[in-house]
Amino acid sequence: MAKFSLLCEQLLAEKVIGPSQIYQPGPPPPDWIEWVHTAAYAQAYRQGTLSEKALRRIGLPWSPALVQRTCIAVGGTILTAKLALQWGLACNTAGGTHHAFADYGSGFCIFNDLAIAARVLQKQGLVRQVLIVDLDVHQGDGTAQIFHNDPSVFTFSMHCEVNFPGRKQQSDLDIPLAEGLEDDAYLSCLKAHLPDLLSQLRPDLVLFDAGADTHKGDRLGKLALSDQGLYQREYYVLSTCVAAGYPVASVIGGGYAEDMAALVNRHAMLHRAAASVYLQYRL
Ligand SMILES: [Zn+2]
Repeated sequence: MAKFSLLCEQLLAEKVIGPSQIYQPGPPPPDWIEWVHTAAYAQAYRQGTLSEKALRRIGLPWSPALVQRTCIAVGGTILTAKLALQWGLACNTAGGTHHAFADYGSGFCIFNDLAIAARVLQKQGLVRQVLIVDLDVHQGDGTAQIFHNDPSVFTFSMHCEVNFPGRKQQSDLDIPLAEGLEDDAYLSCLKAHLPDLLSQLRPDLVLFDAGADTHKGDRLGKLALSDQGLYQREYYVLSTCVAAGYPVASVIGGGYAEDMAALVNRHAMLHRAAASVYLQYRL
């Protein structure tokens, strides 16, 4: 998809970021991916030997270039998480592949970058408790299943109830929303849960999936956030975490539209809000 590089160009053109604030990730070592995914699945995907059925469930045609992009996006979320520990706040320009399960991919998701980043940072002794705040319009079903019996990673998913996936998994906290929900009701719901979660868990790191498919113009979403509402959501999550002293690493999540400029503009809300929070709190 073109949106990843276009997003970076847009942020530079708007001076939301300068070139010195861009960090280039590389692919992680294969064993890091296998801390979350089964070796059989991870290796079959990388080598292009997954069955037709397994590839159909992912929904993207296999190619060596896609393997490369997938692994680098995972590396990007790991890097973002480490930068968040260093700076208090960091954002990926990709990531949020939350429908990937330990042994299969689905819904355009191959490897679960959020889960891998949480595991890598835990294994490296950088964090203990992680909170995943998944505000993509679709439930973070893969992430929920991966951490189902693991209290060290709390999964919070706020999503449209009638949207994909048809069969939901159980997150530690699921907030299913009615179709067509608009800015005020959506933000009230978020504000009713996030502060309590932070004070109860006191996480060493928050991973924030800022899926832009909650926007009213999204092709696959079924919620009705405006541009302003989306910006307010990103600003609220980031400022609430930062003000309370919790490092927050964000990924862009889903977003689907024919109008590429409009889509990139929606994803850029995350980085614009981050830049504003960064300046306000002088991180
Ligand atoms: Zn989504």
